[in-house]
Amino acid sequence: MADKGLIVSVSGPSGVGKGTVLKRVSEMIEQKWPGRASYSISATTRNPRPGETDGVEYHFRTKEEFEEMIRTGEIIEYDQYVGNYYGTPAAPLAEKVSQGKIVLCDITIEGSLAIEKKFGVDSVIIMLLPPSYAELEARLKGRGTEDDAKVSARLAKAREEIARAGEFEYAVQNNEVEQAAADIMKIIESEMLKTARQIQTIKNLE
Ligand code: 5GP
Repeated sequence: MADKGLIVSVSGPSGVGKGTVLKRVSEMIEQKWPGRASYSISATTRNPRPGETDGVEYHFRTKEEFEEMIRTGEIIEYDQYVGNYYGTPAAPLAEKVSQGKIVLCDITIEGSLAIEKKFGVDSVIIMLLPPSYAELEARLKGRGTEDDAKVSARLAKAREEIARAGEFEYAVQNNEVEQAAADIMKIIESEMLKTARQIQTIKNLE
């Protein structure tokens, strides 16, 4: 039997680079612990961006479908962000952790805090910070997928989110993808060494 896995929940403003950094973290996990990297695929009511596919980046759902998922408990946590619902499907997450996977979640602050409350020692929550607000605005505009009003809404939200960094166990600044991913790996490596995570390893010494 394998030891349990770990949920690594990363929050931070839209445009801070969570997706890119987590992709690199996933590769680093695969190098260190082959076959153990995994993503939580969220459900959302927002429309797919160009290049996004249902079931890959997100499970794209209608508002009615999403509300049904909340009612049936299919969603372990959910939040609203700039007018849309986002939520984490419960069953795949619990299953992956029990299989020993290191599950990466890209979710809002409320989402991370809810996951931390439910999974405790089986999760670690990290806030990803931009190099500066000016750089964050440049990144959001450069992405070219949102109009000016949406960029402003996301920037205002960013300041609110970063003001809550103290509620997180860790904060990592994304000055550069490779450095930010390496910093997150250090956190994961420490978490994986906790005795609570190595009960089976200790039993297997026999
Ligand atoms: P985007 O529309 O840019 O893909 O995501 C907007 C925000 O929703 C991001 O901050 C992202 O982290 C968050 N988000 C994505 N999936 C979930 C989820 O399942 N739960 C929560 N609470 N937030 C999510």
